[in-house]
Amino acid sequence: QFILGIETSCDETAMAIVKNGVEVVANVVASQIESHKRFGGVVPEIASRHHVEQITIVLEETFEKANMSVEDMDAIAVTEGPGLVGALLIGVNSAKALAFAKNKPLVGVHHIAGHIYANRLNKEFSFPLLALVVSGGHTELIVMREHGSFEIIGETRDDAAGEAYDKVARTLQLPYPGGPHIDRLAKVGEANIDFPRAWLEDDSYDFSFSGLKSAVINTLHNAEQRGVTLKKEDVAASFQASVVEVLTAKTYKAAKEYGVKQVIVAGGVAANQGLRNELQLKFNDEIELLIPPLDLCTDNAAMIAAAGSIAYDQGHRAGWDLNANPSLDLEKYSLRGTL
Ligand code: ATP
Ligand code: MG
Ligand code: FE
Repeated sequence: QFILGIETSCDETAMAIVKNGVEVVANVVASQIESHKRFGGVVPEIASRHHVEQITIVLEETFEKANMSVEDMDAIAVTEGPGLVGALLIGVNSAKALAFAKNKPLVGVHHIAGHIYANRLNKEFSFPLLALVVSGGHTELIVMREHGSFEIIGETRDDAAGEAYDKVARTLQLPYPGGPHIDRLAKVGEANIDFPRAWLEDDSYDFSFSGLKSAVINTLHNAEQRGVTLKKEDVAASFQASVVEVLTAKTYKAAKEYGVKQVIVAGGVAANQGLRNELQLKFNDEIELLIPPLDLCTDNAAMIAAAGSIAYDQGHRAGWDLNANPSLDLEKYSLRGTL
């Protein structure tokens, strides 16, 4: 079985071909980061325009690399949401056009289901499992009891983890996206500033990062006013220590409570070296931990094809009325996707 995956939810135009849901045959990502850098974030209008320019080039490159053609595909899977509506539409409409022209089944994929299924490209899932999703727009703890089913047991009440990284990076005058820069600085810095940890209520698996973000900004302003210079490396290390401690502790507690067989980590912040190290230490050999290779943490289409393969096997088909849904709900998506 060969699935073509298409991903255009944000600022990456990506296509990939995945065999049997687990083997990457080709994986092409055209990033627009350079065009958005000078604005310090993704500009939706610019993103859409880039997708239009890139999509045919990425399509040709993907099939060239795989030495295959659309005819060889069993289905076409596309991110239908969540994301930027104008960006999503380019992918959805391209997928519909291809599926219609070549008479192929069309499958809609939830972007976060994709991030989670990036892990299945390395190792088969064992249920029940717990997924920690940490990306630019999401921070969630999700329990999966079977393929294609997602129960959110905790989520952020304000900023997403990646968003906090990007905002703090901005105050430190680091380029967009700031996550990798903070990660790099944190490695050489000392976590000597005591930033708050947002544990919330004892029994809550929710997260909050806006207080931490404000604490970092206030600390920097206060230091400036007193004429003290804080080392960026130390601020980065202290901020990261707070984020990583809360993410790791809540994930561990939930893994125990739900008695899961695997813990998987997904989304752009899963690329964070501090988080990867801490989770590995915490789970050790106690519970199996899956973390994707770096290039499958951030947005790509191999993960969309991997999730699409499961949805396809479960009989999920999209009609010609498939539309971009910028606020697609993961739990509702999983109910719809399962037969
Ligand atoms: P979503 O998936 O929620 O719709 P998105 O697709 O924009 O959002 P991703 O591509 O999954 O997000 O991840 C991008 C985010 O990951 C950015 O916020 C970026 O700063 C962050 N990120 C990438 N690498 C690292 C790293 N090494 N450390 C921390 N954060 C990182
Ligand atoms: Mg991106
Ligand atoms: Fe993403």
